[in-house]
Amino acid sequence: MHNNKIKKVIIAGGGTAGWITAALMAKTLSKTVDIILVESDEIGTIGVGEATIPPIIHLNNAIGLDEKTFIKETKATIKLGIEFDNWGKLGDSYMHAFGSIGKNFPFCDFHHFWLKAKQNGDTSSYWDYSLNYQAAKHNKFKKLTSIEGTNLPGIEYAYHFDAGLYAKLLSKFSQNMGVTRIEGIVNQVNLNNENGYVKSLALENGEKINGDLFIDCTGLKALLIEGALSTGFEDYSHWLPCDRAIAVACESVEPLTPYTRSTAHESGWQWRIPLQHRIGNGLVYSSKYMTDEQAKDKLLSQLDGKPLAEPKVIPFKAGVRRKQWHKNVVAIGLSSGFFEPLESTNIHLIQTAAIRLLKFFPHNGIKSAEVIEFNRQSKKESHMMRDFIILHYKLNQRDDSDFWRACQRMEVPDTLTKKMALFEQSGKVFREQDALFTEIAWQQVMIGQNLIPQDYHPIANSLSVDQVSELMTNLKILIGRTVDSLPSHRDCLKTL
Ligand code: FAD
Repeated sequence: MHNNKIKKVIIAGGGTAGWITAALMAKTLSKTVDIILVESDEIGTIGVGEATIPPIIHLNNAIGLDEKTFIKETKATIKLGIEFDNWGKLGDSYMHAFGSIGKNFPFCDFHHFWLKAKQNGDTSSYWDYSLNYQAAKHNKFKKLTSIEGTNLPGIEYAYHFDAGLYAKLLSKFSQNMGVTRIEGIVNQVNLNNENGYVKSLALENGEKINGDLFIDCTGLKALLIEGALSTGFEDYSHWLPCDRAIAVACESVEPLTPYTRSTAHESGWQWRIPLQHRIGNGLVYSSKYMTDEQAKDKLLSQLDGKPLAEPKVIPFKAGVRRKQWHKNVVAIGLSSGFFEPLESTNIHLIQTAAIRLLKFFPHNGIKSAEVIEFNRQSKKESHMMRDFIILHYKLNQRDDSDFWRACQRMEVPDTLTKKMALFEQSGKVFREQDALFTEIAWQQVMIGQNLIPQDYHPIANSLSVDQVSELMTNLKILIGRTVDSLPSHRDCLKTL
C-alpha cells in the first residue's frame, strides 16, 4: 500500500513500448498527471518488431493517429495473415488468416460443415473459404467490411511497419500532447529505504528524476522491474525452445505480398515481413541445435534481395515477469517478458498492458487489491497466448531433425493438451473470455498442422450432403468473384 497521490509518471525507455504507453497516457491523463519519458539515443532500441495483428487499428484510433499518416510515415504495408510453411510436415503450407472463414451457422462454426463435406469426398482446402487467404495469395487488398450483396464479413487486416519510424511518430505525437522527453542514460535506480519503492532514476549526467509511478520500458534489460526490484521470471523456455534471433533487412522485390511468412527450418523458423521500402527477415533458432554462424549463413542464403546491413544477433529467453506490476513499477514491453515473435503478439501485449494500466490507474495511491487484479489479468493473458504459440511447435510431424522430434515429445501445459484432445475428438474449440486468439485462429493452426477432427457437430446434419456441397460451391464462387474485383495491394496502399 502506498497512499500518496500519483502526480508524476516516469516512463523509462523510448522504444515501441515507451512511446505507445506515453501516447495513450497523454491522450487520456495529461490533465491529471505529469508524464516524463527518459530514453537514450546512444543505447537505441531493439530494432525489430514489424508485424502486428488487427487490434493495432484500435490503438491508432485511440491515440488519434489517422491511417493515411500512419501508413506514409511508418512505410507500412497490409497484413492479412501469417503463412506457415513446413510447420506440419516438410512441404506443408497453411495460413493463419485473420477474419472469418466460410459462413457461420447458429451455434456451429463453418469448419463442421467443411468436415462433413470432407467426410463425403470433398477435397477442397479449408482456406478455399477464407477471403483473407485468397486475397493474400493473389496480392490483393481493399477495405471491405462485408462481401458485396451479402452479410458475410469482409476483410480483416493489420499492418507490417517500421517499428523505429512508428516510435518516432508516436514520440512527436506524445510530445505535442504534453509529454516531456529527457535524453539520457539511466545508470542507477534509487529506492526508498522504508518500503522499497522506486524513488528516482539517476542519469549519467548527474540529473535525478523523481516520480510517483514508474513504467519500465527499458526492453530486455528490465532495469527497474528486475534490475532494481528483482521481481522474478516465469521461464517458458522448456516449451518455447528458441532462444536467439538473427535479423537483417533486404531490398524489396515484386510483388508486394500482404502477409507475413514464417518458414520452419531444421532448428527453428524464419520470418519474412514486406514493408514498402524493404523486407524484414530474421531467423529464430535454438542455440542448442544451431550456432550463430550457421544461422547467419542460412539467413543470408535465403533472402529475396540484397541485404541492407550486417545481420544482428538478439539473444532472448521466453517467459514473463512473475508480476507485471510490483510496488510502484509497471513493466510494459520486453521488460515484462517476451514471447517469440511467431504470432506477432508482443506489440499487442504492449497495447493491452498500457490500456490495462489506464483502466487501473492508481491516481489516489497504489492499492494492493488493484495490483493483484492487474497482475492476475496479465498472467491469464500471457498463459492463453503462450499455449497458442506452443501449439505450433508441439503439433509438428517433422522427422528430419532432433529439434522437431524433441518438440513432438515435449510435455505441454495441461490447458493445451485438453484443447488439442477436444478438437481431435469432436472438432470443438472454445475461446476463453478475453482470449486474444479466436476459435478460427485455433482451427487454422490445428487443421493446417494436420490435426483433423474425428467428428463434426451434428448441427452440420441440418443440411444434406448435396446442400453442403452446394454451399461450398457457392462460397467459393462468391470469394473468387470478390477477390477478382479487388485492386492489387500496392495500388490500394496509394489510395489509403
Ligand atoms: P526496446 O525497443 O529495446 O526499447 C528500450 C528502450 O529503453 C530504448 O529507448 C532504450 O534506449 C531505453 N533504455 C534501455 N536502457 C536504458 C538506460 N540505461 N537508460 C536510458 N534508456 C534506456 N513484436 C511484434 O509485435 N511483432 C513482431 O514482428 C516482433 N518481432 C520481434 C522479433 C524479435 C527477434 C524480437 C526480439 C522481438 C520482436 N517483437 C515483435 C517484439 C518487439 O520488438 C517489442 O515488443 C517492441 O519493439 C517493444 O520493445 P521495447 O520498447 O520494450 O524495448
